[in-house]
Amino acid sequence: MTVDPADLERLAGDISGQLIVPTHRDYDAARAVWNGMIDRRPAAIVRCATTSDVAAVIVFAAGKEVPLAVRGGGHNIAGSATCDNGLVLDLSPLKSIEVDAGARRAKAAGGVVWGEFDVETQEVGLATTGGLIPSTGIAGFTLGGGLGHLMRSYGLGCDNLLSAEVITADGSRVRASSDQNPDLLWALRGGGGNFGVVTEFEFQLHELAPTLLAGRLAHPLTRARDALRLYRDFTAAAPDSLIVYGSLSTGPDGDPRMGMRPVFNGPLDQGQSILRSLREFGPPILDDIGPRAYLRCAEDRRAGLPPRASQLLEGEFRRPPE
Ligand SMILES: Cc1cc2nc3c(=O)[nH]c(=O)nc-3n(C[C@H](O)[C@H](O)[C@H](O)COP(=O)(O)OP(=O)(O)OC[C@H]3O[C@@H](n4cnc5c(N)ncnc54)[C@H](O)[C@@H]3O)c2cc1C
Repeated sequence: MTVDPADLERLAGDISGQLIVPTHRDYDAARAVWNGMIDRRPAAIVRCATTSDVAAVIVFAAGKEVPLAVRGGGHNIAGSATCDNGLVLDLSPLKSIEVDAGARRAKAAGGVVWGEFDVETQEVGLATTGGLIPSTGIAGFTLGGGLGHLMRSYGLGCDNLLSAEVITADGSRVRASSDQNPDLLWALRGGGGNFGVVTEFEFQLHELAPTLLAGRLAHPLTRARDALRLYRDFTAAAPDSLIVYGSLSTGPDGDPRMGMRPVFNGPLDQGQSILRSLREFGPPILDDIGPRAYLRCAEDRRAGLPPRASQLLEGEFRRPPE
């Protein structure tokens, strides 16, 4: 299927965002998603600047029967945020974040990624369950469930979704909340991305200690059997304030290893005492567990937090209002 260039030109005139076609110099950058193995060539990428743009693109695609892919943070490994010969509705320019610290709620637009969201909420001592890596989109993450450091304390990402603004397949704008279209909210909380395009997410926030106890433990693969047994027994009895990720991976020295990553959300001395038996086993070839800001628990520093994160980390974290 091909999209008529004259139709695309008309669409470009109807929106305030940017429409990028294959001849545009930004085309290759705009079509790339996180998984570098995905190499799809959409007819155009529409970088939406407003929710009206989102509605215009949906109505255009439905009317012309053009395949439509929706892009939040672009992290889906299967590349479902892009397509061949269709349109990519790219929400990444939609970045507004409003934190209501008193009500412990935050609204964020569909193009926000977790690093951006976490900085805004941590500035007032609050957080919700978000992704382990700052560049993951809040959109696909929440619509697909959402696993994170805080999930044992506060539930999955989708459990914290209080309401959403959704543009439906006919271009209508609807609210999904406990009293408006509650069945739609139910579907959005982990049901995947096919119930409409979510332009705004409203999350429940939670007070978070300024410093968590977190870090890494590693054991050589030769000890993996015993380490995994310990991991199984330890995590079965662990309190909800503690999460421990376990993995079999290759270390920076090229040797295979069994790794554990605890994150404790509570008083530091209590965390030190709970983690003692885990840290004493071995001894481990790596133990860098210590007090850390939540923003420093992100696993992949290369993915980068927004520049404001470093100012925040160097300064004082404010406490949320009583
Ligand atoms: C490096 C990396 C780290 C990850 N870490 C975690 C983690 O810690 N926890 C976890 O649970 N998962 C994690 N994931 C998985 C990730 O949550 C999912 O891939 C999620 O879909 C990414 O969301 P996104 O908005 O970035 O993705 P996208 O690829 O943009 O979108 C994913 C899907 O959601 C749809 N979609 C996107 N935005 C919207 C919208 N606004 N409205 C409707 N549909 C939409 C898309 O069409 C697509 O089908 C990780 C993935 C990667 C690559």
